[in-house]
Amino acid sequence: VTAGRPTAALLVTGQELLLGLVADANTRCLARDLDALGIDLRRVGIVGDGHDEIVTGLRELAGHDLVITSGGLGPTHDDRTVAAVAEVAGAELVLDEELLAQIAAITAEYARRRGADPALNRDGDRKQALVPRGATAIPPAGTAPGLLLAHGDGHVLVLPGPPREFAAVWRSALELAPLRALRARAGPLLRHTLRVYGAGEPAVARAFAAAGGDGGGTRTTICARLLEVEVTVRAEPERQAALDGLIAGLREQLGDAVYAEDERPLAEHVLAALRARGLRLAVGESCTAGLVAARLADIPGASDVLLGGVIAYANEVKRSLLGVSEAILAEHGAVSEPVARAMALGVRQSLGVDAALAITGIAGPSGGTAEKPVGTVWIALHLRDNANTVLLRLWGDRTEIRQRAAQGALNLLRRALIAEG
Ligand code: ATP
Repeated sequence: VTAGRPTAALLVTGQELLLGLVADANTRCLARDLDALGIDLRRVGIVGDGHDEIVTGLRELAGHDLVITSGGLGPTHDDRTVAAVAEVAGAELVLDEELLAQIAAITAEYARRRGADPALNRDGDRKQALVPRGATAIPPAGTAPGLLLAHGDGHVLVLPGPPREFAAVWRSALELAPLRALRARAGPLLRHTLRVYGAGEPAVARAFAAAGGDGGGTRTTICARLLEVEVTVRAEPERQAALDGLIAGLREQLGDAVYAEDERPLAEHVLAALRARGLRLAVGESCTAGLVAARLADIPGASDVLLGGVIAYANEVKRSLLGVSEAILAEHGAVSEPVARAMALGVRQSLGVDAALAITGIAGPSGGTAEKPVGTVWIALHLRDNANTVLLRLWGDRTEIRQRAAQGALNLLRRALIAEG
């Protein structure tokens, strides 16, 4: 379905990425934006900081309407992207006096704040103001300007590496005439997302096949994340009917496992449902130690719904702050249904709310037994006068188990709120 759409490639530079010291954040930012614009990102490469590596990378990625580079624009000798781009484009480097004045003003201001001598920046400023002849400079978001250069039938766009600067200069670049033209040629794709909870990838794949698959010219991705599966269907504008048909078929196959048709996080859906009912929430968290509260607090405006909670990691806190009895703990163990229930009741009473969630589980890597292996998590919910519990048998490493437990708790709450009507 992408025939005729503009294509793009990204070359990420930085030895620190190849050494695993920093995880690449710029691909994600760019890929999402290009997808939304309907520009087809075909390839992504990561290379070190060497001149020849960058030149080779650029040559390998040639032939797209837009080739974007990330990083290597700093003031020091080991920032070599601009020189490499100039070589590949066959353009000489020239000093852009106007850009030099801009950069010098920025670095002088940084120097003033640090009490340093601005003259020490002179060489670095000049280096950053050297641009391939014919390139358009894009004002810096830090000190490194971006550059847009025509090359062959397309353009090369040079962006700084630090993710905040990368995103800011990229957004500015989108307003330049050649990128406006590319966006006009692209035009957004149709796109619809279904978020599925409680059906695994195989079940979603069967539902997709039963709904007719991509036979009508749609392009579908099925992606598992935490405990949910995200199904995104894309299509060219003239395929609206095929997209609608596939979405309707998926809804029919998956039923109420489809919990949302937008990209808002689960926590945001839960907050909205609680808010609509005038409920406030408190949490008692053992193995997740605050992850549920943190998920909710990530959403702006959470404070009218999220009252607070207790991180009851140790048994003595389960006893002293949540009133879980010694007898229940001794008889059933900390990771058990009765303890989860008692925690939810305790946090509900001590914070005086109508909705309380509690979580207790074994995140591992140690602490599992044959009866209660790593990944055993009990979640309890008190909603008004109803108590509800669920046992999750989770998989993955410690981080994944804790993340999934938090997601499972939010989902239990979501389901209970829906069931209330
Ligand atoms: P500067 O002027 O800061 O040197 P630059 O364009 O030369 O900018 P780099 O030197 O390549 O950028 O990277 C600066 C820092 O930005 C790196 O140490 C790294 O922490 C971060 N960074 C660079 N590229 C990425 C990336 N793709 N993903 C995440 N972080 C990155």
